[in-house]
Amino acid sequence: MDYEEPSQEQLLSRIQELEILNRQLLEEKEQETRLEYAWTGNLGHWYWNIKTNAVTFNPLKITTLGYDKSEIPERVTYQYFTEKLHPDDYQIAMDAMLNHLYHGAEVYETEYRILAKDGTYRWYYDRGRITQYDEQGQPLFLAGIVFDITEKKETQLELEQKNRILAEMSYIDGLTKISNHRTLIEQLETELVEANRTSKALSIALFDIDDFKKVNDTRGHVFGDQVLVDIAAIIQDNTRDSDLAGRYGGEEFMVIFSGADLAITSSIAERIRMAVEAFLFAEEARVTISGGVAQYCGQSLSDFIQAADENLYRAKRDGKNRIES
Ligand code: GH3
Ligand code: MG
Ligand code: MG
Repeated sequence: MDYEEPSQEQLLSRIQELEILNRQLLEEKEQETRLEYAWTGNLGHWYWNIKTNAVTFNPLKITTLGYDKSEIPERVTYQYFTEKLHPDDYQIAMDAMLNHLYHGAEVYETEYRILAKDGTYRWYYDRGRITQYDEQGQPLFLAGIVFDITEKKETQLELEQKNRILAEMSYIDGLTKISNHRTLIEQLETELVEANRTSKALSIALFDIDDFKKVNDTRGHVFGDQVLVDIAAIIQDNTRDSDLAGRYGGEEFMVIFSGADLAITSSIAERIRMAVEAFLFAEEARVTISGGVAQYCGQSLSDFIQAADENLYRAKRDGKNRIES
């Protein structure tokens, strides 16, 4: 064997030889990858030499982002990819890598948005692990695989959004955007238990729009709907966050006043009545409401509501645009 120092020429030719071999092996690896895992979105392998910070990867990883193969720089570093990460995902990806490199996480695994050439983002799922350590036991080389999961992710996000809307629909009234009947009853059930346990005051107010049929008949249902929206907002604006205002039925609203006695509830109900009376509705329409108030005194839930309803009935009978308690 010849132990002489190799000449620069020899070294260069050796490097070239290795580069050719490397390209060949990579190509074969990619073919193998495609055969083995013909999964949707598979963009192939990547390799990262931590010491030299050189990244070798299937061009698909970058051409999928709209870049041409010829645009890929000769020397690609880890930062070539990380600087394209969405700001909201950057730290998550960094943490995933650091956790694997230095904090014992078994694999590097993360999802991130990465900037495409046209300014949009694509979702990548990235997974890899250390395959070589140096003599000091420090990570030296990583191998990984990356997937484009944009379609899957978008479907998932869309579903999550739909679920949020569905969940919201189950407790919010679609027209007025305040709590619906179901939420009011559930809240009342909880409040009743609490009131029985602690003897804390609990009151409700039931409101009903006066002559609303006439409003609909003379100005139309679209107008009527807007009146409902306006009145819901007035009620909401005049109650505290700890109270629960909801649409009890068609043109009836309920407010649950937790910790409030009849006197307090009556005065707030009166304030709401006056706010509606003073409100400037469209077409200069005048709309008023009547209200019935009741304080809880140990009866059943339906009897409690019935008590408020009876007072509401009295308010109607005695001339409307008034609160009875
Ligand atoms: P009173 O002063 O005695 O309450 O008379 P009223 O006309 O308000 O009472 P009534 O119960 O006879 O009519 C209630 C009306 O409310 C009838 C119904 O068409 C209308 N209404 C109920 N829900 C809605 C809705 O979502 N939109 C519209 N535009 N109208 C509704
Ligand atoms: Mg009614
Ligand atoms: Mg009415």
